[in-house]
Amino acid sequence: MPIFEFECSDCDREFEELLFNTGAVNEVICPECGSSKVNKKISMFASKAAGGSSFSLDSSAAASCNTGST
Ligand SMILES: [Zn+2]
Repeated sequence: MPIFEFECSDCDREFEELLFNTGAVNEVICPECGSSKVNKKISMFASKAAGGSSFSLDSSAAASCNTGST
């Protein structure tokens, strides 16, 4: 599920929004003050992937790629 984290630049409130299409990012407003000046932070998905499984995936993929090309 595409959950995005936002931070309001007006009141510094952090909140999460469930967005099913990335175009909706531009329509997100702060639930606290209603400002549209919100900054999208890194998604929970991306941070999870970067921390764990993608690391071993990367190294194994690189290894098989190396042996394959030589
Ligand atoms: Zn706000």
